[in-house]
Amino acid sequence: MIVNMSDKATEQEIAHIIDRIREAGYQPHVTRGTERTIVAAVGSGRRHEIEALQVAPGVDNVVAIAQPFKLVSRQVRPERTVVRVNGVAIGADEIVVIAGPCSVESREQLLDTAHAVKRAGATMLRGGAYKPRTSPYDFQGLGLEALKILRDAREETGLPVVTEVMSTEDVDVICEYVDMLQVGARNMQNFALLRRLAKANKPILLKRGPSATVKEWLLAAEYLLAGGNREVVLCERGIKTFETEMRNTMDLAAIALARDLSHLPVIADPSHGTGKQSLIAAVSRAAVAVGADGLIIEVHPCPERALSDGPQSLDFTGFEKVMQALTEPLRRALTPPRPIPVAAQSCS
Ligand code: PEP
Ligand code: MN
Repeated sequence: MIVNMSDKATEQEIAHIIDRIREAGYQPHVTRGTERTIVAAVGSGRRHEIEALQVAPGVDNVVAIAQPFKLVSRQVRPERTVVRVNGVAIGADEIVVIAGPCSVESREQLLDTAHAVKRAGATMLRGGAYKPRTSPYDFQGLGLEALKILRDAREETGLPVVTEVMSTEDVDVICEYVDMLQVGARNMQNFALLRRLAKANKPILLKRGPSATVKEWLLAAEYLLAGGNREVVLCERGIKTFETEMRNTMDLAAIALARDLSHLPVIADPSHGTGKQSLIAAVSRAAVAVGADGLIIEVHPCPERALSDGPQSLDFTGFEKVMQALTEPLRRALTPPRPIPVAAQSCS
């Protein structure tokens, strides 16, 4: 349930509504917009007591939320959220490009990549320290050593850094070294991890699970917001379908849908979404065209030697080309449709 306060509601009236929501057994979540304040009643409680608040002073109306996700929904917050990551705004006017290797493999590899992606125009750096690998025999990441390298790369380049967190045990140490924590696709529904990250004092990049619906993805984000962390960026990274030529199927419409249903910024990961270097430029342009607030792209100094995700990683020249492609106008300008002559008819 949402209590929409009137634009003239006083602080005392808002405080009264917050108290009444608590009394009715719900948790109050206050969103202060530019014109009015909205108080959401989250959880389960005595619904009729909230409905009755329609007649309380300072209340405009009380509405039921149609979607199971509440705090994430645009009904609760019609204005778009901008998430700030150490000086970089995600969800504002500029498209944010996060680039870097799938895994941090060495100091030299990460620093060379960080400088190269910065020169090409990236505004954030990525790099995996703890890697979720399908096989236990594959490279698992350098852990703490990688975190130190990521911190040094941020100091040298000024690029804020994002890395994946796989376990609640690692949250504190990762928070010491990086600016944003990524919840990987495989962990989207790791509810213990989501609850822990809701209490972390860092923005979260929440990837969509390979077989998650958009509703499940937004409900995963709801765990973070309900637990107290509102700094959440969603990331579409492709889903499993019957297609076998690509690693995943990039669900571009889900980017537009998530932005329609939620106020949170949404970025796209064409690297995992396609698994193919050759498709990154096209899918990046398409993602921006459907409304993505940014991109996360894997870049490696020598993809053929990468310890993870080489086939989808761009080398430095490839990444520069993608950055240029992002600024080019659409190649085929749309020709206006020719008018179709229609005999004037009256409608019945
Ligand atoms: C990654 O970003 O390298 C990664 C493992 O991503 P995902 O969780 O989307 O597979
Ligand atoms: Mn990867």
